[in-house]
Amino acid sequence: MNQPRIAIVGAGISGIGMGVALQRAGFTDFTLYEKAADYGGTWRDNTYPGLVCDVPSRYYQFTFAMNPEWTQLYSTGPEIQGYLAGVARGHGLDRRTEFGTEVIGADFRDEGWLVTTSTGAVERFDFVIFATGFLHHPNRPDIAGLDDFAGPVMHSARWDHEVDLTGKRVGVIGTGSTGTQLVSALAGQVPKVVMFQRTPQWILPTVNKPYRALTKRLYRRVPALSRLAYQVNRGFFAAFSQGLVHQGRIRSLIQWVVARNLRSVEDPELRRKLTPDYQAMCKRLVVSDRFYTAVQRPDVELVTDGIDKVRPDGVVTADGVLHELDILVLATGFDSHAYMRPMPVTGAGGRTLNQEWANGPRAFEGVMLPDFPNLFMLVGPHSPFANHPLTAVAEAQSSRIVGWLERWQAGEFATVAPTRAATDRYNARMRAAAPGTVWTTGCQSWYLGKDGLPELWPWSPSRYEKLIRRTPDSVDYQLDPRVMSRK
Ligand code: NAP
Repeated sequence: MNQPRIAIVGAGISGIGMGVALQRAGFTDFTLYEKAADYGGTWRDNTYPGLVCDVPSRYYQFTFAMNPEWTQLYSTGPEIQGYLAGVARGHGLDRRTEFGTEVIGADFRDEGWLVTTSTGAVERFDFVIFATGFLHHPNRPDIAGLDDFAGPVMHSARWDHEVDLTGKRVGVIGTGSTGTQLVSALAGQVPKVVMFQRTPQWILPTVNKPYRALTKRLYRRVPALSRLAYQVNRGFFAAFSQGLVHQGRIRSLIQWVVARNLRSVEDPELRRKLTPDYQAMCKRLVVSDRFYTAVQRPDVELVTDGIDKVRPDGVVTADGVLHELDILVLATGFDSHAYMRPMPVTGAGGRTLNQEWANGPRAFEGVMLPDFPNLFMLVGPHSPFANHPLTAVAEAQSSRIVGWLERWQAGEFATVAPTRAATDRYNARMRAAAPGTVWTTGCQSWYLGKDGLPELWPWSPSRYEKLIRRTPDSVDYQLDPRVMSRK
């Protein structure tokens, strides 16, 4: 069989999933490019104290690599990173991965892609698959004087483990999933934590208990238990996602639960400061078993006045108060709309990705772009990634990509791209559905694009999975059949 040459860019969750899917389907001529020195993507980059995934481990895993060894309901960052690296190595991806090699450009030429890497090499591939993720480029806030701070300033995704926290006053800017986890972990470990809150968050309570040795033994002996637990979680998340995309009982129930959780904050003034003025889940819901306990500690201060500037000795808020600090942590999120940018990507006829996305990232069914033949994305724009495991999304999308590669191998086409008309129709349907989602109910979040509409799949994840796992309808694509002339 004719083997297509394939480049995968990024060895995080989706790149690993894609690599394994290719191998399992018998595609052997692929290179997995990874700019860093290890697998894991966001799980490699994020090593801040308190990092725990808020999707249960038994669901946040690949169905082809169920792990009976999870140590707790919600795994820590290092445990997930170890799992991902183990899956990659266990499936022999090491021999296809080029670590320390950043893809710095991709150009479509003569029915294939010229991929340029940081080593200076230019390689030709039949297909390029971007698995670059979206929580990738740290967002460094534009705060006056930030560079003048005398102590260490760390973004949460670039934690410097050389920095000694002992006896230090730590400021944390940001109240998302990261900021709340950080404050929960630092509270009691350092003499003072100051949390700078621009917008309060609703917090969904949970419990995180370690699994007993007996449980692990059972899961080891009876693999069906892992599959069962996966399905149970899937059902739970399917119900939860109804609340995201429909006004109704689930949304009301979650609102009731988070409001009740907030009542555990005893001081009325602190409770007032922590009360959001938007619906639960409008921003990405924070899940925590300890944030409210942490924020009520006497050594944790919640500051709600806006940040005016940073001075060498601390942060000055709009009320003129100087909050003296030794270390400043930026839990300020990511440029989640960049995807593979700023890398220059040029498609057919010289069309650039920046031109294609001038009005924001758009794709066809989350994985392809018109005028960019033989280019695929994993977890691309409008994929269902809100409070949903990316392992599941990546697996479903990989199966679609493998389907196209098999059709290429069967000689059906040399290049494939969705038509512009199909892409426009698809995006118009999603935009029409967006107002029904909770993300448009009146808050700012990283889910929203420039036009104020969410760059998320506006229906249930299972509907997306059904869509992406079906055989694509050829009328939506431009298939160029010149394969025989080249091969
Ligand atoms: P985020 O949700 O984007 O939160 C960023 C925080 O920084 C927000 O509170 C934001 O305030 C604040 N901020 C940004 N710029 C600021 C400025 N100039 N001044 C003051 N505050 C500023 O980022 P994140 O917490 O890193 O989370 C990103 C995503 O990563 C999550 O939504 C989630 O998908 C994922 N994540 C998941 C887990 C997990 O447990 N699975 C853990 C961590 C992260 P505003 O709200 O006012 O904008």
